[in-house]
Amino acid sequence: MSHPAWPGIVRTFSYNSSQLSILPLSENSEFPFWLEKDRGSVRCKRTDVWYRTTVTRKKLTESAKLELCSRSVASKTPVGFIGLGNMGNPMAKNLMKHGYPLIIYDVFPDACKEFQDAGEQVVSSPADVAEKADRIITMLPTSINAVEAYSGANGILKKVKKGSLLIDSSTIDPAVSKELAKEVEKMGAVFMDAPVSGGVGAARSGNLTFMVGGVEDEFAAAQELLGCMGSNVLYCGAVGTGQAAKICNNMLLAISMIGTAEAMNLGIRLGLDPKLLAKILNMSSGRCWSSDTYNPVPGVMDGVPSANNYQGGFGTTLMAKDLGLAQDSATSTKSPILLGSLAHQIYRMMCAKGYSKKDFSSVFQFLREEETF
Ligand code: NAD
Repeated sequence: MSHPAWPGIVRTFSYNSSQLSILPLSENSEFPFWLEKDRGSVRCKRTDVWYRTTVTRKKLTESAKLELCSRSVASKTPVGFIGLGNMGNPMAKNLMKHGYPLIIYDVFPDACKEFQDAGEQVVSSPADVAEKADRIITMLPTSINAVEAYSGANGILKKVKKGSLLIDSSTIDPAVSKELAKEVEKMGAVFMDAPVSGGVGAARSGNLTFMVGGVEDEFAAAQELLGCMGSNVLYCGAVGTGQAAKICNNMLLAISMIGTAEAMNLGIRLGLDPKLLAKILNMSSGRCWSSDTYNPVPGVMDGVPSANNYQGGFGTTLMAKDLGLAQDSATSTKSPILLGSLAHQIYRMMCAKGYSKKDFSSVFQFLREEETF
């Protein structure tokens, strides 16, 4: 069912728990409301119209005050997007295709040019994005970049509006996501971690998988935007659990990519044609995403980084970073990750040997070039 967006911005209400009704306190608020639990919808008593909005319930004090922050969800109001790199660029374009005007920022001005040419608004800091948009998506390389974009001198938190929804799709340390969520909450806004799986191809086709952590009541609001960029949007639990799921996935991906590269390299040296070997693997029990969707051997598949000298895609540095996050998480939870640790070392070595800017599937080339490996 589609409801119109609640037109207000921020209002303060008294809360009567027995009737679950919310009455406006401020003089210029005209309507009494009911709050429907668990759905984040608000009904205007006078007109009996359901409005789609998001309700942030702050801790109820003894005086039972509730701050109701509403942000428009149904209308296509501008969405902020920070970080227009390999992933952010196609993700933001999919929001545009769904009719969302964008407020754009990237530290690298050239990354914004395409969007400026397309008529989107480019601003000069994350704070300026927060001033103009109450829903913001960040897609940044590392924890350090995310902290800078949120809490830095010109960060989002400097100008964030109450009730804003801030979705971080970067892959970062779950502990950092939790810290950012606390800071955001202090400002009366909402933070969710929503890292992605699927790579640049899935980002272009709008088929990413989002793993979402945060307050469950806010999931529907996040889903509306994330659904424009992904075909799977999964709620994982409290803030940080999206990152946890992502880190586990990427550790497995790194291991399977190295395994695929080793198997392909061995097969080629045994005299097999790479395309035929890939075909056999893909109809056998060794099949995996690295072999059938993102094969690391040049000439086996079109439209993947291995077909383009390992340009674009998912950088080796980023994979080394994700494996470092897995390593930290394994240490803190006392979990054995023998192959994950080895994969971390291999990707770190690749970074040290000039592969840092290449796609992570270049591990195949690395193995080929390491005569003594
Ligand atoms: P990228 O390096 O291509 O793009 C990141 C962008 O963020 C760049 O344009 C950079 O200029 C910008 N940036 C950096 N710091 C900034 C700041 N403080 N403020 C504003 N902009 C800033 O990285 P990517 O490949 O798009 O990856 C982004 C995130 O998504 C990473 O955390 C990565 O691990 C994750 N990821 C990537 C892939 C992939 O296939 N590339 C897949 C899944 C997840």
